[in-house]
Parts: sequence; structure tokens; C-alpha cells
Amino acid sequence: MKVAQLQQSIREYAHAIGIDKIGFTTAAPFLELKNRLKRQQELGYQSGFEESDVEKRTEPTLLLDQAESIIAIAVAYPSKMDASPKGKKGERRGIFCRASWGMDYHVVLREKLQLLETFIATQVPDAKMRSMVDTGELVDRAVAERAGIGWSAKNCSIITPEFGSYVYLGEMITNIPFAPDTPMEDECKDCTLCLDACPTGALIQGGQLNAQRCIAFLTQSKKPIPEEFRAKIGNRIYGCDTCQTVCPKNKGKYNLHQEAFAPEPQLTKPLLTPMLKLTNRQFKESFGHMSGSWRGKNPIQRNAILALAHFKEEASVPLLAELLVSDPRPLIRGTTAWALGEIATAEAIEAVQQALQTEEDPGVRIELNNVLESEQRKC
Ligand code: SF4
Ligand code: SF4
Repeated sequence: MKVAQLQQSIREYAHAIGIDKIGFTTAAPFLELKNRLKRQQELGYQSGFEESDVEKRTEPTLLLDQAESIIAIAVAYPSKMDASPKGKKGERRGIFCRASWGMDYHVVLREKLQLLETFIATQVPDAKMRSMVDTGELVDRAVAERAGIGWSAKNCSIITPEFGSYVYLGEMITNIPFAPDTPMEDECKDCTLCLDACPTGALIQGGQLNAQRCIAFLTQSKKPIPEEFRAKIGNRIYGCDTCQTVCPKNKGKYNLHQEAFAPEPQLTKPLLTPMLKLTNRQFKESFGHMSGSWRGKNPIQRNAILALAHFKEEASVPLLAELLVSDPRPLIRGTTAWALGEIATAEAIEAVQQALQTEEDPGVRIELNNVLESEQRKC
């Protein structure tokens, strides 16, 4: 089969297996990206989750022998939830970002890429292929941009005209010389809505992100959240969608057609206080299929405590007071101390004073003392 014919049959097959967009690009190095990544490293703007070897991230030929081209795929995810449960006093809810709704996209996209590999192998038995989704070396967005999936937007996502920025990305490096597609024109123009709306100023300028300030990354961190960001996290217990929801290019892009990503309302907007009582096993059973569970329950529970503080949820004080003296994790005790200081009822401050009598962890003691000093300043 000729390459052009194969390329067309791949497009058709991809569509048939639920890949919403497919594009092709060469395996040439990503030279501009290489410079940008090095600058990001120098500035300390990286999240720490990415591959540290910039050469591997930008040179596809280092990842597959005889690499000739890259197939980029995009699968849309929903941005709207029907029957979204509303929180109320005494029953506050957190929220997982849209990219964590439904089944973990890594699993779904890997399955689709595996099907695509099998399809290509039946046409070209000696084809070499290497697929990746998110956690691979290549930068998904750079590949998607060059393959004409969408433009690289100021909010650091790829925006497609059809599905907005609500798309998961993946790619496959191959040794087949497919004809490259044309990159799309940047449609952000002079809009700055996402930069203006970012609660933490993480979008430094169009297309540059300081991951150290970005709530999407902070909510995944296993360390205590720096104090300047705690109140800004609000009730987000995983990820942040603000720079996407404000984007005019996402208006009306609901993408409800992918069943695998249909949100389960009670999980995507879970009640906060029951989250704090989950065992590891219960957490895995309820949330383990969602991509937002990948860091385990500790960061999610820490974020749930921040969310209770955000709501100044007085009904949660007895539970927080109990966690403050009984939870074995300093991360949880320290965050709880801060949360009780935010809620600041007499009962909450009393719990902080009591805990200081027995607390031995230096980091948690600092949090407890900070609360009491702040209370003294109010007097
Ligand atoms: Fe800012 Fe949230 Fe976007 Fe991160 S995800 S850049 S914190 S708006
Ligand atoms: Fe681009 Fe405006 Fe959307 Fe930001 S909000 S990504 S600048 S169109």
C-alpha cells in the first residue's frame, strides 16, 4: 500500500475508533521548544513531573530508531456536567478538574493508540512504532501544534476549533514517512482573558507557565502548599480549569460524546468531610479509575481540608480538631492547623492551643504557632 493511501486509511480508522482528531508531522527535532524548555529550567518554572532530559523531549530520533514521522491524536473530553450537585452549609463539596472526569485518559488514549499500532502493523508488518500519552518524553502540545491539531494558546493548552482546549493528546512516533499536516494559525490574537483570570499569576506571558505557581500542579504536590496559594485554591481538590473556562474559544464546546469521560457527579464534586475519613482502600475503590487519583489520597485529603477552610465550614471543626491530634501525617496535621485558624471559631482556636501541648513535628508546630500569633494580632 502506498504511504498516501495508508495515511488516508489511518485517518478513517482513527475516526472509527473514537479518535476525534488526527494529524501528522515529521520526526524533525523541536528546536524552538528545546530553547524554551532550557529557559524554563533556568527560571525554575517546571513542575518536576516532566522528563528532565531536554534532548529526549525534543529529538524524536533519540526515542525510535529510524524515526520518520509522528502521528498526533486528540480525544475530546466533556466540559459540562448535568445534574451537578450543589454544596451547602454542612455539606460542602470539592471539585476535580474536567481533565479528571470519568475514566483515566491515559488508559483510554493508550488503548486507542494500541489499536492504531495494530492496524498499521497489519498494513506494514515491519513498521516501527512507539506511542506515548502525557508521561512520555515528547511534549504532547508541541507535537499536536506542529501536526495541525490546534494552535498553542496563551493558556498553555492546544485549542482546536472543533472541541476547544478540552482535548487529551497523545502521539506515536513511526518509521513511516507520512506527509506532514500544516500547523494552524494562532487565534489568540490580542486576547488576554486567561492571563487576567489566573488566580495565582502563573501565566507569565502568552504561552509561558510558572508551574510552581499553577494550582493544577500545586494540588498534585505532596508537600505542604505554600501559604500564599492556600486561600486561592478554593474548593479545587484536583487541578484547575479557570484559564480554560474563561476562554472564549471554549464557549459552547461541551464535548459530551465520549462516554468514557462522562462525569460521575458524586465523585467529581465529592462531599468534603467524608473524603477525610477514607482509608487507602476506600479511596482507591471510589476514585482509583480517575486520573486525579494518581498521587494517592494524601494530596486530595490535604486539598479537601483547604476547601473546608475556604468555606469557613464551622460544622467541620470537631472532625478537624480530631485530625489535628490523631492523624499520623504531618502534612494533614499542618494543613488542618491552618484551616482551623481560617475558620477561627472559639472551638477551632481552642483545638489549636490544645494540640500545641503535644505536637512534636517542627513543621506542624510552626503552623500551630502561626495561628495563635495571628489570633493575638487580632486582639
Ligand atoms: Fe492559572 Fe489555574 Fe490556569 Fe494554572 S490552571 S495557569 S492556576 S488558571
Ligand atoms: Fe487565547 Fe484568549 Fe483563550 Fe487565553 S482566553 S487561550 S488568550 S483565546
